[in-house]
Amino acid sequence: MNSPRDSSRPEVGNLLRQIPAVDELLSREMLLELEGRVGHRLVVEATRKVLQSLRERILSGSLASVSGEWLEKEILGEAETAAGFSLQPVVNATGVILHTNLGRAPLAREALDHLAQAAAGYSNLEYDLERGERGKRDAHTDRLFGQLLGAERALVVNNNAAAVFLALNTLAEGSEVIVSRGELIEIGGSFRIPDVCAKSGALLREVGTTNRTRSSDYAAAITERTRVLLRVHPSNFRIVGFTERPGLDELVELARKHRLLVMEDVGSGCVVDLSPWGVRDEPPATLSLKAGVDVVTFSGDKLLGGPQAGILVGKREPLERIRKNPLFRALRVDKLTIAALEATVSLYLRGQLGSIPALRMMRLSRVEITPRAARLAERVSARPGFCAVVHEGDSVMGGGSTPGQALPTALVAVTHARHSAQELEQMLRCHKPPIIARVEENALLLDLRTVFEDQEDEIARAFETIS
Ligand SMILES: *Cc1c(COP(=O)(O)O)cnc(C)c1O
Repeated sequence: MNSPRDSSRPEVGNLLRQIPAVDELLSREMLLELEGRVGHRLVVEATRKVLQSLRERILSGSLASVSGEWLEKEILGEAETAAGFSLQPVVNATGVILHTNLGRAPLAREALDHLAQAAAGYSNLEYDLERGERGKRDAHTDRLFGQLLGAERALVVNNNAAAVFLALNTLAEGSEVIVSRGELIEIGGSFRIPDVCAKSGALLREVGTTNRTRSSDYAAAITERTRVLLRVHPSNFRIVGFTERPGLDELVELARKHRLLVMEDVGSGCVVDLSPWGVRDEPPATLSLKAGVDVVTFSGDKLLGGPQAGILVGKREPLERIRKNPLFRALRVDKLTIAALEATVSLYLRGQLGSIPALRMMRLSRVEITPRAARLAERVSARPGFCAVVHEGDSVMGGGSTPGQALPTALVAVTHARHSAQELEQMLRCHKPPIIARVEENALLLDLRTVFEDQEDEIARAFETIS
């Protein structure tokens, strides 16, 4: 028998000779039409790639004939994929509201409009309209968080990790920062308090124990090298039981006595009391400022429901120093982020929290989700081979906030006569647009809490393509 790679076999030679030349292919009507849509370069690249893989398949003996029609289709698919965006909208049917892998908080309509306006033209980003001279971009954020939180000063950087880094670098480089052992946290990815601290040039002084740290522990660790008492909100876990930590007012008092600063990383960006919205144990930044914390940092795209950003608010003097750090320039945000943030915060100021998608999704009750789930289950069940039922389950906030706090929801559990739940999950994921769902105990689970109502039809249609 011939080896499969033997190109001297007559049929292999025949097949290779049947491969059309690139130029001949490019002059075909379908590819000319494709070129009109995606451009010459992508069509040529796709053609070369498809022909190359065709040659390899012929040489390996896994192809018995060359069809011109098939070739054109392959090139079309290849070029269209290459011409498409890499960053694509997906349908989030996981029920995880601030899903970090899926881009955290979806923006409010108002934020999108303001962002589009700022993006499309010129703006007074760094221009003082009253004086007709150069201004500062933090004028916008100062005004915003002054209004929202009564902060003396506010700065916005790329994300909260950057905010913590910048603050520590400014306030404690080469000096000591005291942190409780119960707050040496890691947030998904690579944000770890000890590592950020080390990179900032600050020396970490751990005090207390994992579950109990007292004000006296901080006091005993203060030396002439100490600059900052750091408090970190343990976002994604809770220590319960025999626990203790000093109140913020105690820390502030201790810091004043020793002429130190108190800095707090509150993490999730809860800026108002969200307990009526079902959020517990997330300290609002307003409380920290009221207690006298000098610098408070939080994320823009977690509970705040805005764009990715790190927000620093607090007293004028330390924030002025942070502003003057050359690293601020490296970490600052662009006009698009400022616009989206401004419009999001303005919804808080107007008391229109329901217009912020993440908060709206959070507040949905099981009673509100059930009829939507039932409607989808009915449509899916009508398809041959499918069985879809509604059952009770839980959604979560995600984004490392409110751990262990479940939001009661209604799930659509789908099974199929021949396809496994994993196969269904994959087929939905490869749908255009991709639909991201969960698999649990051999069923595909869809949670409509995080699905916009106008996407429900898209999900039903995706099931119609599965046979
Ligand atoms: C999420 C979080 C961070 C990181 O914030 P990013 O905006 O994702 O950089 C830092 N600290 C705490 C306490 C957090 O919860």
